Amino acid sequence: MGRKVLVLGEIREGSLRNVSFEAVAAARTVAEGGEVVGVLIGDSVSALGQELISYGAERVIAVENEKLAQYTPDGYSQALMSVIKEEKPGGLIIGHTALGKDLSPKIASKLNSGLISDAVQVEEAGGNLVFTRPIYSGKAFEKKIVSEGIIFATIRPNNIASLEKDENRTGDVSTLSVDIKDLRTVIKEVVRKATEGVDLSEAKVVVSGGRGVRSEEGFEPLKELASVLGGAVGASRGACDADYCDYSLQIGQTGKVVTPDLYIACGISGAIQHLAGMSNSKVIVAINKDPEANIFKVADYGIVGDLFEVVPMLTEEFKKLKV
Ligand code: FAD
Repeated sequence: MGRKVLVLGEIREGSLRNVSFEAVAAARTVAEGGEVVGVLIGDSVSALGQELISYGAERVIAVENEKLAQYTPDGYSQALMSVIKEEKPGGLIIGHTALGKDLSPKIASKLNSGLISDAVQVEEAGGNLVFTRPIYSGKAFEKKIVSEGIIFATIRPNNIASLEKDENRTGDVSTLSVDIKDLRTVIKEVVRKATEGVDLSEAKVVVSGGRGVRSEEGFEPLKELASVLGGAVGASRGACDADYCDYSLQIGQTGKVVTPDLYIACGISGAIQHLAGMSNSKVIVAINKDPEANIFKVADYGIVGDLFEVVPMLTEEFKKLKV
């Protein structure tokens, strides 16, 4: 018979983030034939409902209120809890993004439920829904099942394939009016860092630089390669500490966790704290002058050489492939 599963669609700058569609796909598995209901929260967001439906949600509930124009933990939790009270779902799936990491424990405590965070896979096995999640900074995986209560999980971006978009899918998009009160934080202004291009945590290709890039200008060839591949630029903490780039690019234990299809590490030694943020990438290419560098232990392809020679050569070759 299945269960009803809610999926929070995450909106950034007026568009749904990809992880929302991946969450719909995960929710379809969790629903086991039941209904998948998208939830959108914001000021005026119902127009995005059809997109969630084209990716597999049966219907969408938009909670609209001008106090929800920006994410706040109080506002979003009131909005989402109102939908949960109304819909009484058997499952809830949210992206494991900065927003999801902030919101989900709050919701779990209000529901007095468990929470499986950072799941990279969900499957039906032996009559159970089994979630797989990395532990010990990605060195091992554990499998979890929910034995009672709501099945609540956050999913890591870029790991669960979304369903094919089908604009012919139809469904109801309704609005729910919620009285938002007692907001303890008010966002007056959002000042975004001027990071160009693709969102690092959702990028399919990441070109990362370490202390080996030697300067801020040293990142230029990496930016060019990333742009040819339609990817994003990342960095080691070594490069951030040396002021070659902004900390928002840092990948690792104390930075972002990424799982792109292709990760190209340039001038990065491969410290354990860096590996924690990228070792689950699907294909890893390492470029390093030192043949003994630790990064080669996790690399699928290793290039021993000077990144300032190798990276421009790669860029030229990829440009030829694109023509
Ligand atoms: P290095 O270790 O100095 O390596 C530079 C590499 O570049 C060398 O292997 C060298 O052979 C190579 N190289 C130099 N010139 C060239 C060239 N021209 N061409 C090719 N290769 C070249 N680090 C992270 O990255 N992310 C984290 O989240 C993180 N969190 C941390 C948390 C804690 C609590 C601690 C203690 C540390 C953390 N670190 C983190 C730091 C980590 O331990 C390393 O110090 C850091 O990752 C090293 O950065 P790096 O590889 O760029 O620099």
